[in-house]
Amino acid sequence: MSRRSLQVDDLLYQYLMDQSIREHPAQAALRAATAAHPHAGMQISPEQGQFMALLVRLLGVRRAIEIGVFTGYSALTVALAMPDEGRLLACDISDEYTRVGRPYWADAGVAHKIDLRLAPALETLDAQLAGGAAGHYDFAFIDADKSGYDAYYERCLQLLRTGGLIAIDNTLWSGAVARPAKDADTAALQQLNTKLHGDQRIDLSLLPIGDGLTLARKR
Ligand code: SAM
Ligand code: CA
Repeated sequence: MSRRSLQVDDLLYQYLMDQSIREHPAQAALRAATAAHPHAGMQISPEQGQFMALLVRLLGVRRAIEIGVFTGYSALTVALAMPDEGRLLACDISDEYTRVGRPYWADAGVAHKIDLRLAPALETLDAQLAGGAAGHYDFAFIDADKSGYDAYYERCLQLLRTGGLIAIDNTLWSGAVARPAKDADTAALQQLNTKLHGDQRIDLSLLPIGDGLTLARKR
């Protein structure tokens, strides 16, 4: 009996972990290797990763984009969920962060599926469009600088095929989006959420998983 999403306390969260998480050993090892990082909180949670992996399999994703790699957990998760010929265009600006993940991609046998581009994501996406890749991709995950989200969304919408899916992370921003914005990141997320709500180019769902995950299916 429920008219709204459940509040998940620590006990229930541990139950959810124990009863549902099926990580590859490299995923668990990469989470452990990232745990002591000062920005470890940027990593997606295992249950969000497993949900995204399920979406990737359901959609039969072969060509994916990730914007915001950090130490590579979400990239590893998406790569593991794709067939051997699948390819992930992974965009980040930090060699320092992404070099943490690369050995784990290799350990999992998916390094050949991940094409890491170290450059501002907008440059990488615009180069893809200039190279004729519009409509080429099945899936995109946006999880980088919040002020860039709207531009990433617009580029990804062009790069995706009809029926492709864009997943946008942190769209509930620890609840800050529901209150008057006190900073530029919150304002950017509020504007994007409002835009997506009225955007007839997509089918929409905003899920209270992790820090809020918006799913936008290209019509
Ligand atoms: N998806 C990752 C995971 O689950 O571990 C977390 C990504 S973290 C929240 C955001 C990342 O975006 C950082 O690694 C940062 O270097 C990257 N980033 C920030 N600005 C960027 C830009 N303009 N282009 C590409 N990446 C950027
Ligand atoms: Ca995030």
